[in-house]
Amino acid sequence: MDHVDHSIHSVHHLPKIVHLACPSRFEQDMTTMPLSFNTFTQLENFGHSLRASSYRFCPTNADEIYAVFQLAKETGLTVTTRGAGRSYNDASLNGGGIVLDMSGMDQILEWDSASGLVRCEPGVTLKQLWQCVEPDGWWPPVVSGTMKTTLGGCLSANIHGKNNFKVGPIGEHVLEFTALLPMGASVTCTPNKNADLFYAMISGLGMLGVFTSITLMMKRIHSGLIAVDARPVPNLNRHLSDLFENAPHYDYIVGWLDTLVHGKSLGRGQIHGARNLKEGEDPNAQQTMQLSYQHLPDRLFGVMPKSLLHYFMKPFVNNLGWWGVNTAKYVTALRKHTFRQSHAEFHFLLDYVPNWERSAGRGGLIQYQSFLPKETAEDTWREMIQLSHRRGLPSYLGVTKRHRPDKFLLTHAVDGFSLAMDFKVTNHNRAKLSQLLQEFDRIVLEGGGRFYFAKNSETSAESTRAFLGEETIEKFKKLKKRCDPNHLLESDLYRRIFCR
Ligand SMILES: Cc1cc2nc3c(=O)[nH]c(=O)nc-3n(C[C@H](O)[C@H](O)[C@H](O)COP(=O)(O)OP(=O)(O)OC[C@H]3O[C@@H](n4cnc5c(N)ncnc54)[C@H](O)[C@@H]3O)c2cc1C
Repeated sequence: MDHVDHSIHSVHHLPKIVHLACPSRFEQDMTTMPLSFNTFTQLENFGHSLRASSYRFCPTNADEIYAVFQLAKETGLTVTTRGAGRSYNDASLNGGGIVLDMSGMDQILEWDSASGLVRCEPGVTLKQLWQCVEPDGWWPPVVSGTMKTTLGGCLSANIHGKNNFKVGPIGEHVLEFTALLPMGASVTCTPNKNADLFYAMISGLGMLGVFTSITLMMKRIHSGLIAVDARPVPNLNRHLSDLFENAPHYDYIVGWLDTLVHGKSLGRGQIHGARNLKEGEDPNAQQTMQLSYQHLPDRLFGVMPKSLLHYFMKPFVNNLGWWGVNTAKYVTALRKHTFRQSHAEFHFLLDYVPNWERSAGRGGLIQYQSFLPKETAEDTWREMIQLSHRRGLPSYLGVTKRHRPDKFLLTHAVDGFSLAMDFKVTNHNRAKLSQLLQEFDRIVLEGGGRFYFAKNSETSAESTRAFLGEETIEKFKKLKKRCDPNHLLESDLYRRIFCR
């Protein structure tokens, strides 16, 4: 391990950092568990469609993480790190092994409101982060569609936002991180120091080490509001050309795609292009940047508690119900319009209804997200959507984004677009759905596309090899051998995509 720099570097080369009282323990409900085997727990993916029982430990510092690695070595068990468990697939599941639940390492360690630099423990959620920095006029540079994810999970998947085409994935905004390797060494990485590990651990699915602290640069904002243009698009061709042509005019762009409609209207939907307000555009900026202004309302129409909404959504989660919802959504979106909304509302729409994924019923839901070059996206997605219709397994929700490539080792991005499709899982359709998604993989590979390992549940080792290429896989395996020679770090996802 002598080629890895083991020293823990202070952030002395960064601007002066001051300690502030930040809200940093919003959702902590875990207690520190002793190192014993009385914590065998069943864990699930975000969509409740996959389950695995594991020994769960909740470390509060690097020493406790190392103690778990030693225990794993002695017992022959493998270890998976888990952030908030918001991956749609098996990324943070480890059947029969150990799960390191990082929710106890959730302190915002340093925040400098003058420079926008923040240093956090890995269990800090995006919610903690934006609530800490927004009142000072900053916003996280890249966020997922939910604020419940942790920074450790976001780095391991190298998440993308609705601004991926402009600012890349979250990894491009990381100045430095420290990670504990399973052998007990602590390593500090920046884009220039231990650069090979920097570009591999970010996107590395938690398979090389455990992030213990993360330094990120925030983005300056001049208002708590964002200006959104919403416009309809009548078919897939116009959908993708709108994303392509209009992305340069916005900070964020995202499309909703009606995955149920056939024929000439296939791919119709609505595009939202959004831009941050410039200095002076919001006369009440100080007020709109306060947390009270960013709050997502607790009740729908001021009456129905949001916490009960998913029960009422359940009857609509079938072909007819979603056809009605999608048609109504398209018809009401026919008029082009512009509006302002808070950052929290724009970015975290999916958090508006707590537990919305429960509306899919007992079998849960999964998401399939494919990334296609701009030249092949239209034909590839037409083929996939038509195939899902023929198989009687339509997706209920489709979301499109515009992307650009990045240089992280297990990158999922392309110069093109992504389409995320949600599927309801039932006992009846589970096997058929699995087959459909494997056919999707074949079609995506033919189109020169890529997959996102935080989402797809069916991608096989063979498809992974075809998509990443032998050279990348060899590089990753070499780093794995160097960082984790005893192969302690494994997850259900890792075994599925690298070992079978
Ligand atoms: C509603 C919803 C919307 C989403 N929207 C987006 C989106 O817009 N863009 C996008 O890119 N993704 C999106 N995602 C996916 C999500 O951002 C990723 O799956 C993310 O990794 C989840 O973070 P988590 O903290 O829950 O991590 P987990 O799901 O618990 O873990 C994810 C991975 O990170 C690893 N990991 C966790 N903590 C650490 C650590 N400290 N050190 C090393 N490895 C670690 C785990 O081993 C695992 O491989 C969305 C998910 C949901 C549920």
